[in-house]
Amino acid sequence: MSDYILEMKNITKTFPGVKALDNVNFKVKRGEIHCLVGENGSGKSTLMKVLSGVYPYGEYSGDIVFNGNIQRFSHISDSEKVGIVTIYQELALIPELTVYENIFLGHEIKKGKFIDWEETIVRAKEMLKKVKLNINPSIKIKDLGVGMQQLVEIAKALSKNVKLLILDEPTAALNEDDSENLLKLIKELKAQGVTCILISHKLKEVLEVADSITVLRDGKTICSLDREKDKITEGIIIKHMVGREID
Ligand code: ADP
Ligand code: MG
Repeated sequence: MSDYILEMKNITKTFPGVKALDNVNFKVKRGEIHCLVGENGSGKSTLMKVLSGVYPYGEYSGDIVFNGNIQRFSHISDSEKVGIVTIYQELALIPELTVYENIFLGHEIKKGKFIDWEETIVRAKEMLKKVKLNINPSIKIKDLGVGMQQLVEIAKALSKNVKLLILDEPTAALNEDDSENLLKLIKELKAQGVTCILISHKLKEVLEVADSITVLRDGKTICSLDREKDKITEGIIIKHMVGREID
């Protein structure tokens, strides 16, 4: 079995007038926390949308190899079937629905033709326990703070048997305590075998959790750094991000 759970090869994606990704190569090792960094507009979100099937095969070129198989997703649900789950910058929870409804939205637990609400609540409680969120699953999403909503998103990912969890700027809207809590959870999930791609602007947290780092600039992979092999500092990352020495 390859060390790599994911290899994206020569990925190119254009929008009218913009080459968002230009022959990007991106590899993630099994079981690691891999941080994807780059300035605004460098192509991070687009790369993750290609990976998760938001842009179907045909709307990009290149190959996605996940767990040894070439994958050509047509839809987000295809990538989720193989265990790739993305939590987007824009939270995808429905504010008016309860926590348990949100966790199983789109992959409802059925008994015959009908949704098995009793089992849904039992399973939702299990998922909340895994993310250490001690709340009543019948509460509505709109009544939770953003930190807790983020944890519900992760609970939802876990309910889909996630193997590769992608978080796009998850701490952007969180305070320091909620951010720390989230990073701790990501490390615990790693210990349980979930590989994680974390996109973040906050280099302090990148340095805290990353096993490896890929830097994108202008839609191109600039470099990949490995915690064990390379010297990694905030200065070195920024230099790669902006493409010049900074003072
Ligand atoms: P990042 O996440 O690193 O900030 P993005 O992947 O969102 O960068 O964007 C990369 C480039 O692609 C930017 O120039 C952005 O304006 C462009 N882009 C992203 N999404 C779209 C879209 N849906 N339509 C047109 N251009 C887009
Ligand atoms: Mg983005």
